[in-house]
Amino acid sequence: MKLSGTEERDLILVLAKNDLLAKSDGKTLLLLKPRGFCAGVVRAIDVVRIALEAFGPPIYVRKEIVHNSFVVEELRAKGAIFVDSEDEVPNGERVIYSAHGVSPEVREHSARRGLRVIDATCPLVTKVHVEAVKFAKEGYSLILIGHKDHDEVVGTLGEAPLVTQVVGSPEQVENLSVPDPDHVAYLTQTTLSLDETKDIIAALKQKFPNIKGPAAQDICYATENRQVAVKQVASEADLLLVVGSENSSNSNRLVEVARNLGTNAHLIDSCNDIVPEWLKNVKTIALTAGASAPECLVEETIAFLRNKGFNNVQELEVMPENVRFGLPPEIVEAIAAAPAAATAD
Ligand code: SF4
Repeated sequence: MKLSGTEERDLILVLAKNDLLAKSDGKTLLLLKPRGFCAGVVRAIDVVRIALEAFGPPIYVRKEIVHNSFVVEELRAKGAIFVDSEDEVPNGERVIYSAHGVSPEVREHSARRGLRVIDATCPLVTKVHVEAVKFAKEGYSLILIGHKDHDEVVGTLGEAPLVTQVVGSPEQVENLSVPDPDHVAYLTQTTLSLDETKDIIAALKQKFPNIKGPAAQDICYATENRQVAVKQVASEADLLLVVGSENSSNSNRLVEVARNLGTNAHLIDSCNDIVPEWLKNVKTIALTAGASAPECLVEETIAFLRNKGFNNVQELEVMPENVRFGLPPEIVEAIAAAPAAATAD
């Protein structure tokens, strides 16, 4: 019998998990891989770091460059000035847009103010913006699946605000009303739960049988891979810990994925958030990190848990992940002008 690629991967993982657990006579810590930084986050952090080195302060950053408090504080300590709005940036200064993207209104406003913009929007978010513009130009009513207050959704909504409605649950689909039910399209935020999004899309297809979707799924590879990894180990773990900040959408979804499978799960900004009661009667912990959480916080958490007796530490690679994105042109030019002073990792 020939196994498909996915079946083969699942079989290898089951054997690896059984082997790990059999070898363990104490407490086990399973490190999920892939975890932590995605390509969009690496790129955004590089943009701020290189801009600070190449241009020197002040460098303004509109909103949190990525949704992680540790990363933001580290860049702030290096001289980045985080602001909520481009209004707060003095005329003519440099401003970096975050990985979550901005609306055309923000771009226009920045141009009127003469701001020197460096755009660190993740290319996978830009892809969704492009789709929104395309559907709107073709006269579609647009349904954006996502969390209405999230920075990314605010930016995407701004591409076609007059024809776009945001929905966050299958129930909300019921209340949608559009001028022509046969001319509707949907898009999604990049960091949603795959399962919940599937339910919302199913509800949309029931209400609007001719609805169109994006050519390729909008939920990004990093969100999907981290959720798949959690699903693979959820049943083996008594507890899943996700390193990530409270406002990180993809990190919160990892907690939900585990809980939906009946596994106790918590989001922690760092190991300092671990409550001793969580570890009572726990023999196996699975540890992962959201796409904006740095590996140093995972390492601190591993050291903390080793100290609590979780000495059998094993890494479980569910799939390889080797995505990298190129830097924005302003940063490439800055590196070319000062190669010794500013280089990407
Ligand atoms: S989570 Fe996905 S969409 Fe968001 S920055 Fe990372 S790669 Fe881009």
